[in-house]
Amino acid sequence: MAQFEEKKEMIPEDLYVRMQRQLLSMPMTQIKMKVEELKKICLCPQCPTNNDCAKDAGELLFCSTGRSFHCITENKGCLCPGCPVASQMGLKYQTFCLMGNEKAQRFDAMLKM
Ligand code: SF4
Ligand code: SF4
Repeated sequence: MAQFEEKKEMIPEDLYVRMQRQLLSMPMTQIKMKVEELKKICLCPQCPTNNDCAKDAGELLFCSTGRSFHCITENKGCLCPGCPVASQMGLKYQTFCLMGNEKAQRFDAMLKM
C-alpha cells in the first residue's frame, strides 16, 4: 500500500494521467473503439511532416503509437498543438512521430529532472 502511494506521488495528476487511468480501467473493446475515434480526428494526415510512406503504412495517432516505424525522418512542422486529441487527452508534448509517444517523452523528461 505504501509502495502504491509512493508511486502515485511520483506521477503528477494532470489530465493526461487521469485519461490514461480511465483508459486502463476500460475493457479492451472499449479501448479499441476510443482509439478508432481518436484516429478519425488526428491531424497527422494533413501535417507537412507526414509523408506517403507513413500514409500507405497506415501510421497515425503517433501520440499513442510512438515513433514512425521507418517512414518519417524529417521534421517539417507539427500540427499536434492544435489537434483536438491533444486537448482531449491532455498532451504536453508534440512531434510524436519523431520523438516518441506522450508516455515516452514524459518518461524521458522525468529522467532528465
Ligand atoms: S496530437 Fe498529434 S499525433 Fe496525436 S492525434 Fe493529434 S495530430 Fe495525431
Ligand atoms: S506527430 Fe506531429 S509532426 Fe508527426 S505527423 Fe503528426 S502532426 Fe505531424
